[in-house]
Amino acid sequence: MLEKTDIKSLFLPELEAALKEMGEKPFRAKQIYQWLHEKLVTDFDEMTNLSKSVREQLKERFTLTVLKAVDVKISKIDGTRKYLFGLSDGNVIESVWMQYHHGNSVCISSQVGCRMGCKFCASTLDGLERNLTASEMLDQIYRIQADTGERVSNIVIMGSGEPMDNYDNVVRFIRLISDEKGLHISQRNITVSTCGIVPGIERFSREGLSVTLALSLHAPSDQVRRTLMPVANKYPVKDVLKACQGYFEATGRRLTFEYSLVSGVNDNLEEAKALAALLKGMHGHVNLIPVNPIKERDFVQSDQKAIQSFQNYLERQKIAVTVRREMGRDINGACGQLRKSFLEESQREGE
Ligand code: SAH
Repeated sequence: MLEKTDIKSLFLPELEAALKEMGEKPFRAKQIYQWLHEKLVTDFDEMTNLSKSVREQLKERFTLTVLKAVDVKISKIDGTRKYLFGLSDGNVIESVWMQYHHGNSVCISSQVGCRMGCKFCASTLDGLERNLTASEMLDQIYRIQADTGERVSNIVIMGSGEPMDNYDNVVRFIRLISDEKGLHISQRNITVSTCGIVPGIERFSREGLSVTLALSLHAPSDQVRRTLMPVANKYPVKDVLKACQGYFEATGRRLTFEYSLVSGVNDNLEEAKALAALLKGMHGHVNLIPVNPIKERDFVQSDQKAIQSFQNYLERQKIAVTVRREMGRDINGACGQLRKSFLEESQREGE
């Protein structure tokens, strides 16, 4: 028995080739592609302009990836929704839907777990389980759009996982979600956040994509950065910023520098000064994120005063800076915490 192909991860020409092998005309592939990526069907039997026999053949050759919402938490404050999705192998991942004045934004996961080991992050506590397929990334958006009944206009690949550690699937996902024959979400409205894997960023610069690159910087010096992010032992800040500059030159897309403020670790004025000096002349802005404490670690969020003075200093140095608004504060839980508490709960039930 041949292994089945994941139909939702295929580009249209690949689907056409597969259909040709079945003796079907290219227009069939277009119809199927439209059912999958525009009408967002969850079953081959919903493809009503195909004959029963074609649908049966499809079921024999292909798998259709559909995520199941295991849990949805809706914020009473701002309508933010946190989804916990079950995958076909029993793993769970989380995605977040946020409403902004400029449209609806979804934060998706790119891996089950993560192996980068950032000290303040809940996604990495149990390490990496596996990569997500392109279809599993797509379906986070498809299911959310179907559930909310509203168009998703922005995507941030900032959930659990390191996109550069699942490179091929992430790039495939970006091409599929921005395809004009699919949901056609503009690449300019997609942001990829990386902890700073230099070869990944360099390769990403050559893809011909126009997505925004966000770098998780979190400290201006290698010394402090290494205490927060193990990946900093491998790639020094200098090299990471050079790769980011290369991305800007190749794409013309302004960069985002994420900086999670941890009280007493990276939030003092010395750090702000070093950061301003480091980023002077770079095309991008700093996004300050008050660290979201997780119970497994004792990091403390910087207080309002520290955040304010950090921001003010950067502004005085003419560095563009914003403080990330906390969305869904009442259902919050940092990146990966919903999944983590779900896993702990099911473990307790099993015992
Ligand atoms: N692996 C990618 C994307 C996932 S995390 C990356 O490292 O960029 C998205 C952003 O949230 C990163 O900047 C990450 O460092 C930050 N982050 C993770 N956990 C956090 C927490 N508890 N508080 C504040 N920021 C956090």
